[in-house]
Amino acid sequence: MRKNIVAGNWKMNNDLAATKTLISELIEIEKTSNAEVIIAPTFVNLLEASKLLKESSIKVAAQNMHFAENGAYTGEISARMLKGVGINTVILGHSERREYFNEDDSLLKQKVDKAMDDDLQVIFCFGEKWEDRSADNHFNVVERQINNALFHLEDENWKSIVLAYEPVWAIGTGQTASPEQAQDMHAFIRGLVEKQYNSSIAENVSILYGGSVKPDNAQEIFGKKDVDGGLIGGAALNAEPFMKIVNAF
Ligand code: PEP
Repeated sequence: MRKNIVAGNWKMNNDLAATKTLISELIEIEKTSNAEVIIAPTFVNLLEASKLLKESSIKVAAQNMHFAENGAYTGEISARMLKGVGINTVILGHSERREYFNEDDSLLKQKVDKAMDDDLQVIFCFGEKWEDRSADNHFNVVERQINNALFHLEDENWKSIVLAYEPVWAIGTGQTASPEQAQDMHAFIRGLVEKQYNSSIAENVSILYGGSVKPDNAQEIFGKKDVDGGLIGGAALNAEPFMKIVNAF
């Protein structure tokens, strides 16, 4: 059966001291739900985060990685480097990577392949812009993003894939998708996976919703049948609201 997951994407926030503080606060708060908890600090703090959380059930993810094994890619980080500091999960395809760093479907496909080769779990993000939704083109956009980056994968790779539907218009805007909009898209996505693969893969893949999830809307969104958790930005930067979202299941 698929897992419920709440992942916090810290983005370019929290220096080392703030990382230590936030982790110690997270550990202090009781987790009452069955959701798996993941945090994604910035690269330079991954090692410290994974050390601090060694005895905890909270997992640590990277926010990005390069597709090459190694080489002349100044400023980049490889899958093997992540594994070397105890990281087994990477977020790929976040809309900020697509928007500000020109990451397109074909580049993301290469990153996904490298992550699979190196046994990393991928939280793969995708989602439409407002102009797509207002033109009633959101299902097509999402289908294309998933198809281009993921539908060449082998069946067994899907054990290491988590999908994160993040409508761009809802990220960091306070304007969340309604629970019904999230459910409609998640059901559509699960249907795509079933059509391309089979019902067992579709039923077992966790599909997270991301976009202005807060303690006061999490329960309603997570209550939808095909919503298996959330990818959280702003509300992941403080322990109390983040753990309230975790405990919304
Ligand atoms: C995100 O950046 O993935 C995100 C969902 O951010 P926020 O929760 O702040 O909308």
